[in-house]
Amino acid sequence: MARKTGYVWHEQYAWHDTGTHAGVYPAGGFVQPFQNFESPESKARFAGLVEVSGLIEHLTRVPARKVEIEDLLRVHTAGHVERIRSQSESGGGDAGDGFSPFGAGSFEIARLAAGGTLAAAEAVVDGVVDNAYALVRPPGHHAEPDQGRGYCLFANVPIAIEALRAAGKVKRVAIFDYDVHHGNGAQKIYWDDADVLHISVHQNQLFPVDSGMVDETGGGTAAGTNINIPLPAGSGDGAYWAVVENVVAPAVRAFSPELILVSSGFDASPMDPLGRMSVTSAGFKGIAERLLGLADEVCAGKIVFSHEGGYSPVHVPFCGVAVLEALTGIETGVQDPADVSFGASPTRELADWQQDVIEQSAQLARALGMIID
Ligand code: ZN
Repeated sequence: MARKTGYVWHEQYAWHDTGTHAGVYPAGGFVQPFQNFESPESKARFAGLVEVSGLIEHLTRVPARKVEIEDLLRVHTAGHVERIRSQSESGGGDAGDGFSPFGAGSFEIARLAAGGTLAAAEAVVDGVVDNAYALVRPPGHHAEPDQGRGYCLFANVPIAIEALRAAGKVKRVAIFDYDVHHGNGAQKIYWDDADVLHISVHQNQLFPVDSGMVDETGGGTAAGTNINIPLPAGSGDGAYWAVVENVVAPAVRAFSPELILVSSGFDASPMDPLGRMSVTSAGFKGIAERLLGLADEVCAGKIVFSHEGGYSPVHVPFCGVAVLEALTGIETGVQDPADVSFGASPTRELADWQQDVIEQSAQLARALGMIID
């Protein structure tokens, strides 16, 4: 079924300067200056393949705009916003953890990234498009109320949700985060909020190493509205599809949101330098297809993907186009060259020890009334 899909990309996202870190580590001493893993390449090449594949002709361009300061302040402390602004205006700085450098002007680019996610969500909620993909940069899912973290300056998805809620457009929202790293930012922001269901599947104890455990379930009246599925390293398509089928779908069905936001990172790719997972482009497409079916069932198809991580400049474009094929219902004919090596890999199959973790998360969600059989 062909769907009308909104698409956000702004050339300025590629101008966010992450300096000369050697992958993750600040250059200096014995660390030779290099390029940050979080470079423009993977996203710009994704946007490039959207054009070259012809997919752009089938997408509805949604213009990005900068969020206002008041939009930032619904989620972040004034101190954090001011620190990013002043560093940005004085040539650059770090978002808060020493691993998240940014150059001059990144405050404005980060506002444009949050605004890209917001514009995409508005287009879906207002019925301008059926669903949307916001290809934004810098990412947002590690950003916490009072500090940036893990390449993230501001929490793009929560900022979009809070702007929609302030405008009275939505009340109950579900977030599903399949980036290989834990969605610690949204978990923290919505810990006590019973109207936002946050589900994160990630590689166990990858980043942040001390968060994302199964027993982190939310506080007070929001107990149960935070669900973590910390998969063991090596998990592939089958494990991720089982997560969606056995945890995400029943929990979202029971929660009954008006809108689903997806934190879409492609760093669970087997080619990613920062993760040790094995999800193929077909695997990501299968995740998206399952989520679209779920959105059709619970919220009239209203689903918005916001780009997070993914650090293989070679593989991310193919994963991204595969997800956009699912969103639009259009086959581009683009073949993922990595299928030669990963297409028949046994790591694509669900293994018992992965199923055990998934079942543990499902059992806890069931015990807390978030999954109703
Ligand atoms: Zn990530």
